[in-house]
Amino acid sequence: MVTAAPETITETDVVVIGGGPAGATVATLMAQQGRNVQLFEREHFPRFHVGESLIPETYWVLKRLNMLPKMKGSRFVKKRSVQFVSFNGKASAPFYFEDNNNHECSQTWQVVRSEFDHLMLNNAREHGVEAHEGARVMDVLFDGDRATGVRVRLEDGSQRVVHAKVVVDASGQSGLLMNRLKLRTWDPVLNKGAIWTYWENAYADEGRDEGATVILQTADRAGWFWYIPLHDNRVSVGIVAPFDYLFKGRGTHEETYQEEVEKCVGAAQRLAGAKRVTGYFATRDFSYRCNRVAGPGWVLVGDAFGFLDPLYSSGLLLALKSGEMAADAINTAFETSDFSESRLGSWGEGLNQGIDRIRRLVCEFYEGFNFGNFVRNYPHLKGRITDLLIGDLFDGKVDEVWGPMESLYPEGRTIPAAWDSGTPAEVAAQKVNELHLPVGARP
Ligand SMILES: Cc1cc2nc3c(=O)[nH]c(=O)nc-3n(C[C@H](O)[C@H](O)[C@H](O)COP(=O)(O)OP(=O)(O)OC[C@H]3O[C@@H](n4cnc5c(N)ncnc54)[C@H](O)[C@@H]3O)c2cc1C
Repeated sequence: MVTAAPETITETDVVVIGGGPAGATVATLMAQQGRNVQLFEREHFPRFHVGESLIPETYWVLKRLNMLPKMKGSRFVKKRSVQFVSFNGKASAPFYFEDNNNHECSQTWQVVRSEFDHLMLNNAREHGVEAHEGARVMDVLFDGDRATGVRVRLEDGSQRVVHAKVVVDASGQSGLLMNRLKLRTWDPVLNKGAIWTYWENAYADEGRDEGATVILQTADRAGWFWYIPLHDNRVSVGIVAPFDYLFKGRGTHEETYQEEVEKCVGAAQRLAGAKRVTGYFATRDFSYRCNRVAGPGWVLVGDAFGFLDPLYSSGLLLALKSGEMAADAINTAFETSDFSESRLGSWGEGLNQGIDRIRRLVCEFYEGFNFGNFVRNYPHLKGRITDLLIGDLFDGKVDEVWGPMESLYPEGRTIPAAWDSGTPAEVAAQKVNELHLPVGARP
C-alpha cells in the first residue's frame, strides 16, 4: 500500500500569502517589530507585473521600509509630474508635485515591476522575513471562523502546514480568501478593460518632464491611454476603456490597439518612429472591493482586498499603504494578544475613505471632468487636485474640491454612484479579472 508522505508542520507568528508589493510591505514591517514572518510566493522573482507608475505618497512607506536608498540608487526613471491631454489634443498644464510640496517626497519613480518587486522582496529578506519562492498556498486553515495557518505546496510536490497567529492574504487579484469567503463586491460603475505593450525609441520629454506620466483621452472620450517612460529607452503605453468597447465585436488585441492609437493624435505622434518590443498584453479591469479587511486571525491587503481602475496610478500606493496599516494593527494585536476582527481590521474604514476619494476622481474623469477647465475656473484649488494626484487621500482636506467640481456639472449630471451601491447578481456572476500575457519578451 502506498501512503502519502506526511506533511511537515511548522509554526510562526505571521504567514503572508504572496510576495508582491503589499505582501513584502506587511512582512517587512512585521519583521522590523521582531515578529517571525514566513512569506510564500508561488512564482520565482523577477516576474512580470503590470503597474509601473508610483505616486509621491508611497515615499513615506518606502522610507519606513528602508527602501529609499535602493530607489535612489536604482535606474528607475524619476517622475515629477502628471499631465492630461484631452480628446481634442489640448494639454493641461503639468501638475508638478514639487510645486505643491517642496520636499524630496515629491519626486517619485516609474518602475519596471519585475525589478521593483524583486527589490522589495529581497529587502524583506534583509529585514529577517523568511520568503519562499515557488511555494503556492493551497488553502487557509480555519478553526471555526478563526484562521490558524496555511497549507503550502512546494515545487517538489511536498506539502507543508504552517500554523500562525495571523494569516495575511496578499495574493493580489487571485484573492484566495476573498474567493473562499465570498467577500468581493464588484464596482457597479467601473467596468473597464486594458490593452498595452512596450516601445523603444518613442518620443521622450526632457528635463523636469522626462519622467512624466501622460494621460491621453481617446478621440471619442470612451477611454484613455497611459504613457509611462521607463529606463532603457522604453515606454509602457496602454489603453483603458469600457470592457465592451474594447473587446466586443473588435479584432485582435493588436488591431484594436493600433486602431485606437491612430485615432488618438497625441499617442500616434509620440509613437511615430518607435519600435514595439513586446507582444500585446490585455486584461479585464473590473474594479472591486471586499466588504471586510479582516476577520479573526486573518487580514487582506493590496489587490487581495480591492482593485481600483488604474487611471491615477493608485494601485501601488494602496498596496503599500494597506500593508503599512495592516502591519501596525497586527503589531497591536500581538501586544494585546487580541486577534479579533475589530483589532486586526481597525484601519479598514480609513483605507476605504481614502479609496473613495480617488475613486470619485476616477468616476468624474469618465463622466467628462476636465482638469484644465477646473483649474481655470478654480485656480486656488490646483493644490488640492494635486494632493489627490499624489495620493494624499487619508484626511479630509481634499474634500473641498467636490462642491466646485459639481458646480461645473452639465445639466442633469449627478454625483457618481458609490462602489457598493449594488451590482445585479447576474452581472456580478459574469465578472472575472483575467490577464492575457503574450508569448515572448516581458519586461
Ligand atoms: C492595466 C493595469 C495598470 C496598472 N497600472 C498601475 C500603475 O501605473 N501604478 C500603480 O500603482 N498601479 C497600477 N496598477 C495596479 C497594480 O498593478 C496593483 O495594484 C499592484 O500590483 C498590487 O500589488 P499586490 O502586492 O497587492 O498584488 P500583486 O503585485 O499582484 O502580488 C500578488 C502576488 O501574490 C502571488 N500569489 C497569488 N496567489 C498565490 C498563492 N496562492 N500562493 C502564493 N503566492 C500567490 C502572485 O504570484 C503575486 O506575486 C495597474 C493594474 C492594471 C491591471
